[in-house]
Amino acid sequence: MKPARFEYAAPDTLGEAVSLLQQHADEDVKILAGGQSLVPLLNMRMARPDLLVDLNRIEDLQYIREDGDWLAIGAMTRKRAVEESDLVRRRQPVLVAATQLVAHPQIRNRGTVGGSMAHADPAAEYPALALALGVELRAVGPGGERTIAAQDFFQSYLTTALEPVEVLTEVRVPVLPAGTGWSFVEVARRHGDFALGGAVATLRLDAGGGISEARLVLFAVGPTAIRLTQVEEILTGERPAEPLFEEAARRASQEIDEPLSDVHATAEYRRNLAGVLTGRALREAAERAGAPS
Ligand SMILES: Cc1cc2nc3c(=O)[nH]c(=O)nc-3n(C[C@H](O)[C@H](O)[C@H](O)COP(=O)(O)OP(=O)(O)OC[C@H]3O[C@@H](n4cnc5c(N)ncnc54)[C@H](O)[C@@H]3O)c2cc1C
Repeated sequence: MKPARFEYAAPDTLGEAVSLLQQHADEDVKILAGGQSLVPLLNMRMARPDLLVDLNRIEDLQYIREDGDWLAIGAMTRKRAVEESDLVRRRQPVLVAATQLVAHPQIRNRGTVGGSMAHADPAAEYPALALALGVELRAVGPGGERTIAAQDFFQSYLTTALEPVEVLTEVRVPVLPAGTGWSFVEVARRHGDFALGGAVATLRLDAGGGISEARLVLFAVGPTAIRLTQVEEILTGERPAEPLFEEAARRASQEIDEPLSDVHATAEYRRNLAGVLTGRALREAAERAGAPS
């Protein structure tokens, strides 16, 4: 299918992009990044914008830098660049692992880090990782720059805290603290497909081998990825052990309010999967943190 007619602008700078969004604030305007989600929506006429503002000429939005205890990643950075970055591999390896589960290489060549965050698909890897790691998202609009914490950014199905006149400019990922193990697991019908369910876990161990900090996020089971704080509380202060992980897995599958039911999987299947993936993620994170097996 072909998209409905739209106007097209390809600004060279972020300032020009924001001005365009402001000038056309009373129209339906869409930002174009890698196009891997937006172009299919245009072709199926599920999106019919009056104007597309293409960010691909703005080279200043493509970078990966170390900034103290953070990795600063420009919103237009391709996922392929993240996957191939030695800096990311060294400082936040779970980001590389999650990236390798996103679609296929051709899609990662074009798809951007910012595009996945802004699109906010509940089955996407990056929003789940953002919640688990405590990522910050920077946006620029006519009023200047603001920073939004991941837990405030993802609001509902395909909906974020971004205003229509704002451009997401940077994704700030905290580096992995010492003594922290991680895991990113998902189930998909074929490698590269969107997940039917997924879990992200990080566990930090103290000098005595107890869990000093636990983070657990499930995705593809509801309208947004979900952080399971009650399960994190069960884990914190305990020593990693199989009965603890079994209890956490049981609680995780109970904690999901209304699991998604669609043509790909039933709610019952997803509830069961949530528990299975929680157990797998916790065991793997504990092993990476150096817990005795
Ligand atoms: C066959 C196929 C399989 C896929 N499988 C997966 C998968 O397994 N996991 C996964 O996570 N994704 C998957 N995707 C989606 C892919 O990862 C997309 O690249 C991603 O969702 C969107 O990134 P993009 O750069 O292409 O954004 P675009 O498609 O260009 O934009 C997506 C949305 O975000 C907005 N947007 C983009 N950038 C900005 C910005 N800087 N500021 C404000 N708004 C912005 C756009 O306006 C649009 O609404 C798949 C896609 C395809 C075609």
